[in-house]
Amino acid sequence: MKKIYLDNASTTALRPEVIQEMTHVLTEDYGNPSSTHSFGRTSKSILELSRKSIAQNLNATAQEIIFTSCGTEANNWILRSAVKDLKVTRIITSKMEHHAVLYTALVLEKEFGIQIDYVAIKPNGEIDLTHLVELLSQEKKTLVSLMHVNNETGTVLDLERVAIICKEHDALFHSDTVQSVGKTIIDLQKTTVDFIVASAHKFHGPKGVGFAFVRKNSGLQPLFFGGEQEKGLRAGTEALHQIAGMAKALELSYSNLEEDKIHILELKTELISKLKTAFPTCKINGGTNGFYTILNVLLPFSEDKTAMILFHLDMKGIAVSRGSACQSGSIKPSHVLVEILSEEDLKKPSLRISFSHFNTKEDIDSLMDALQKI
Ligand code: PLP
Repeated sequence: MKKIYLDNASTTALRPEVIQEMTHVLTEDYGNPSSTHSFGRTSKSILELSRKSIAQNLNATAQEIIFTSCGTEANNWILRSAVKDLKVTRIITSKMEHHAVLYTALVLEKEFGIQIDYVAIKPNGEIDLTHLVELLSQEKKTLVSLMHVNNETGTVLDLERVAIICKEHDALFHSDTVQSVGKTIIDLQKTTVDFIVASAHKFHGPKGVGFAFVRKNSGLQPLFFGGEQEKGLRAGTEALHQIAGMAKALELSYSNLEEDKIHILELKTELISKLKTAFPTCKINGGTNGFYTILNVLLPFSEDKTAMILFHLDMKGIAVSRGSACQSGSIKPSHVLVEILSEEDLKKPSLRISFSHFNTKEDIDSLMDALQKI
């Protein structure tokens, strides 16, 4: 049975060149980057070249890129240090953020007594920027944390516009860009966002490594303490093979961006058209303006078929997701869909189908075939 992977918002397959790069580093370059001998110096040079390459791809400076173990860590670090060290007393966020932001904000509310405000969401899942401006008119030291691309619906935030709004109101701006880094151009000279985060496994790199972009002179302090790695901002011996793999993955993502995007958009457009023909009353959650890699669709199946649908697809070797990956298998409705769907629609099955350049038209045909047999 040919397996079909359409769950690329959860994680992605590694590019062969990334595996090659990582294998090389694991085999040859095992020195500790902090050691002063030749082994250490070689590793240090790989580390800094990786940092430089990542920075170049985002039009940032190398010193603004700090390596972390994942996107979750980077989000936790930025939010916590903003409150603890930069003396932020309010976080404005939305109920549609990833739990790495939502739960962190709630813990900070309890721990530091800060105020959390949730910006309103429009019926199509977009952030209501008029409400954001209203919230920002209160005079408080504020961090705005809004994701660039929603991992469940693919709803896109206008990063540049929000960055301008935040600057005008003297608020710090953090964006969880885990779903967009490597998949769309982010120019950090043009966009005045203060902090973004990324995770390599979302752009065909290894799991267990990510980075934070922290704008120069931000004053952020470390999450935990120990060695002097990452200029003291993130102690712990660097996972050099992961970092080199991440840099390679990002470089390849950006050098193939246009070609991959055209291919993926073609697949998505074809799938939408086939779904509409086969299930005329299906609905695209979040509307048709979503990010090109993600399609969240509500299918007009009866409630009794809802529980079976992922299982049925899985039996056929097809991987898609219900809501976000961390929730698949749980019976709770997705916290994102709860914000935009009616009670009635929440009972029906919504599938998140997420693409990569590795997908083919045959994958779409197999998915359609399986759905029509349910
Ligand atoms: N933020 C978003 C939007 C995500 O989609 C994910 C992963 O699902 C994360 C954060 C967490 O990233 P990581 O798996 O690197 O911790």
